[in-house]
Amino acid sequence: MQALMMNTQLMISSILVHAEKNYPDQEIVSVTADNPRHRYSYRDFAKRSRQLAKVLESLGAKFGDRIGTLAWNDYRHLEMYYGISGAGMVCHMINPKLFPEQINYIVNHAEDKFLFVDVLVMPLIEALHASFESVEGIVVLTDEANMPQTSLDNVFCYETLLAEQDDDYQWPEFDENTACGMCYTSGTTGNPKGVVYSHRSTLLHALAGALPDATNASNLKTCMPIVPMFHVNAWGIPYASIMVGSKLVMPGPKMADGETLHDLIESEQVNFSSGVPTIWMALLDYLDSSGKKIESLETACSGGAACPKGLITRLKNDYGVDLMQGWGMTEMSPLGTVFSFKKGMENLTEEEQINLRAKQGRTVFGVELKIVDDNNKELPWDGVAFGALKVRGPWIATGYYGMSQEPGAADCPVDKDGWLNTGDVATVDENGFMQITDRTKDVIKSGGEWVSSIDIENAAASHELIAEAAAIGRFHPKWTERPLLIVVLNKDAKVTSGEIIAYLKDKLHKWSVPDDVVFTDELPHTATGKLNKLALRETYKDYQFPIE
Ligand code: ADP
Repeated sequence: MQALMMNTQLMISSILVHAEKNYPDQEIVSVTADNPRHRYSYRDFAKRSRQLAKVLESLGAKFGDRIGTLAWNDYRHLEMYYGISGAGMVCHMINPKLFPEQINYIVNHAEDKFLFVDVLVMPLIEALHASFESVEGIVVLTDEANMPQTSLDNVFCYETLLAEQDDDYQWPEFDENTACGMCYTSGTTGNPKGVVYSHRSTLLHALAGALPDATNASNLKTCMPIVPMFHVNAWGIPYASIMVGSKLVMPGPKMADGETLHDLIESEQVNFSSGVPTIWMALLDYLDSSGKKIESLETACSGGAACPKGLITRLKNDYGVDLMQGWGMTEMSPLGTVFSFKKGMENLTEEEQINLRAKQGRTVFGVELKIVDDNNKELPWDGVAFGALKVRGPWIATGYYGMSQEPGAADCPVDKDGWLNTGDVATVDENGFMQITDRTKDVIKSGGEWVSSIDIENAAASHELIAEAAAIGRFHPKWTERPLLIVVLNKDAKVTSGEIIAYLKDKLHKWSVPDDVVFTDELPHTATGKLNKLALRETYKDYQFPIE
């Protein structure tokens, strides 16, 4: 028997229509290259998004065309999220910090027809322009007064184009499975791979992300996404926050600047914010050295890489901020798991709560998760067994753009069993808290046992003289591989490798204590701020452990 319900298509434009009607006066505050504090209402935002849809049509962009963005977190980027997708085109967010060759590859692979770029990105576009194969025009995200000099043809000013259009525009309705957005994963090997999101997947992801046990988004909240809008849809916040009518605060190109972040949090009364661990580290360093506070901030959401326990403790004890860890992937839109208490856990001791927050969290409804052994046999949720982490759900990719969608194919991330292989290794405890112990390719295999490089790094990061640490497996004549710890010390700090090893002996299983510690001035990171283990393994490929 068929149900008798309206088959309303889940459209991104419906978020905007709802938000404009219900929260017209809610504010969106941004830092941009041309304005230190821009402020406007949802009403203005919705109007300008409709104008943008008309701009795209006037430029000749058609349904399904990819429109690339190279921009920071600000109101114009938000207009592109809605204007491009709402009009039936594909908003393709590109990380301007990638290597130029990668950006070139991504633009050509996605066949972007137009690029909408921040003023600060123009020098890069000028350098790459000749090798773009499909790009018909560049729109610079600024006004006439701030337009850069350029020798390129077909360069337009965003504000001028917008001013030429009125907002008399009806959002079209079409199949909810139509592509709305694209992000390329910036893996450390091979070419970047394109993930294609649909209106349906994005809407369902936003609904789940807003739930009380996820981000608990609401009209009463002021939310500042510090995670860039080119990094997996800023974790879906630009959709979930607008859906519920939150005040949105966006730091533009000042994402890593502690002073700006502090100023925005205090003056705009931000109470929820999200970013990778290095952002929180930068903010804490600024607060510690300036003696300033962030009294309005209640929750700091951290993801993208494991969050050291020391960071969670500092945020809570020194600044009263609860850190909420989340885990996900570009292929997952990205939400997979997020921290939330289960009934009774509010009564745990501070130390126990921090231990829980250091795990990657519990699945949100919509994502199914399992860990499996080498024979694809499911492992128990006992907090001890660890195996390859697999997921499935309505906002998880079936494959990459231009590659096989056939489960089990070599270039498809989905296995024959229909589950996406995340490439992560994890445990899951009795309460469903997942903990990443490694990337499959980073795991250290010592005498047949798996040693978690993340455990070692977290333990090392808790040492007060260590600024950052990375553990990699290196050849060992007896154990095949043993852990080598590579450490960056705080400025002017002095400590020996023997002292660090002694410190770690208390904190790790005997088996996981690194055999040696080496010092360096800086660790390599990927464009999304993760430790680049591949580069480290290359640098230390000839390293030999001291003979016992
Ligand atoms: P990239 O494009 O850099 O690969 P993704 O965001 O897609 O960016 O990376 C996803 C991977 O990041 C995950 O598979 C996992 O290894 C890692 N990751 C994400 N969140 C966490 C977390 N909270 N703790 C540990 N690792 C994480």
